[in-house]
Amino acid sequence: MKKSKKWYDYLWIASLLYLTLGFFNIMFAWFGLLCFFIPLIISVVSGNKAYCNRYCGRGQLFDILGKKLKLSRKKDIPKFIKSKWFRYGFLTFFMVMFINMLVSTYMVFRGATDMKEVVTILWTFKAPWSFAYEGGFNPWMVQFAFGFYSVMLTSTILGIITMILFKPRSWCVYCPMGTMTQGICRIKNIDVYRKNQ
Ligand code: SF4
Repeated sequence: MKKSKKWYDYLWIASLLYLTLGFFNIMFAWFGLLCFFIPLIISVVSGNKAYCNRYCGRGQLFDILGKKLKLSRKKDIPKFIKSKWFRYGFLTFFMVMFINMLVSTYMVFRGATDMKEVVTILWTFKAPWSFAYEGGFNPWMVQFAFGFYSVMLTSTILGIITMILFKPRSWCVYCPMGTMTQGICRIKNIDVYRKNQ
């Protein structure tokens, strides 16, 4: 029997909308913080990965692109990407770059540097993005929006590349949020893990 769809099965639309709105007004990037805090709150409070299993619009989007639109080669992801050192190494790298983005925001807040209207893709390529900002906000808020959108766009691009090369949700294997929430769930359920070892 076909499972009836729930409201959360459509959260991929929110993910798509988020990425699209970043082309029109960069300040919408602030909404991305929801994808940062909600998974952490769920894992800390409930000790489970309900966010990944149900509410992650980005994961759903990769499923749709890979399975329904058949854009995925559906190959196994290389073993080294599944390894602990790669997943935690990538999480560390991601967090360092995230802190770097927060430092840039702080520098603008202090007036030490000027706001840069660019979106940095894959931590390297700086794409001019002034078309998505028309003024009216405090510069540090705008700097944060550009930085956060860069993080979201970069992770989506990586997710799409791995979706095409491997299985649709291969990004989930090394997604920093997934690694963090998994770590939190492990700590919260340490007794269960010990019993099973
Ligand atoms: S691992 Fe990341 S992309 Fe995958 S479902 Fe969880 S939060 Fe979403």
